[in-house]
Amino acid sequence: MATIENNLQAVKKRIASACAGAGRSADEVLLVAVTKTFPPEAVREAARAGQRDFGENYVQEALTKIESLADSRLVWHFIGPIQSNKTRAIAEAFQWAHSVDREKVAVRLSEARPAHLPALQVCIEVNVSGEQTKSGVAPEALPALARTVHALPRLRLRGLMAIPEPTADLELARRRFRLVRELRDELNRSGLALDTLSMGMSADLEAAIAEGATMVRVGTAIFGARKAA
Ligand SMILES: *Cc1c(COP(=O)(O)O)cnc(C)c1O
Repeated sequence: MATIENNLQAVKKRIASACAGAGRSADEVLLVAVTKTFPPEAVREAARAGQRDFGENYVQEALTKIESLADSRLVWHFIGPIQSNKTRAIAEAFQWAHSVDREKVAVRLSEARPAHLPALQVCIEVNVSGEQTKSGVAPEALPALARTVHALPRLRLRGLMAIPEPTADLELARRRFRLVRELRDELNRSGLALDTLSMGMSADLEAAIAEGATMVRVGTAIFGARKAA
């Protein structure tokens, strides 16, 4: 049963060839393995195959896995919608939060980040698909939110995250990802120093890498299809 290991190798090959096609080095793109709905044993198997970074969407489910994998020195990324009553648990247990999309959540994460830990690394989630998706800050509201998050003492703003609407149209996918990169570049011209673009999943990681993704969040291609919730 070396399936997870084989799948990880296949995904890494996809990342490497997308990087080669874009004239980028494969080590510019970090693979975050998304383990939502999968048991701790799946995480352990991936960890044994060398995977270090893991993404989770649901706080309660994640805490169980984080605890049972505590001996493995993994890096945990919170990538799901953030409810404000879950900010403390996220701030205490995760190294990254990719899905910050409003001031209230950012303030609470900063306040709850334990003093003995380094600042929580965060991305702001941007809605680049207009009305077709509801999570993420609108591009127009991004600069103000970025200023706010940047100023919070216990957060370290690293970049932007996006989940464009699923599409078979490769050009549309590229356009969405390109917009994320342009928004990041614009923030950097205004004085921030954001180095992270968290974008691309099992179906569209090539398009995301072509447009500058530095983290891809991949679940299905590593662990198989998820059962409907
Ligand atoms: C589930 C999920 C992923 C992984 O999606 P796959 O299509 O299974 O690779 C990535 N990012 C977020 C935010 C997710 O919720």
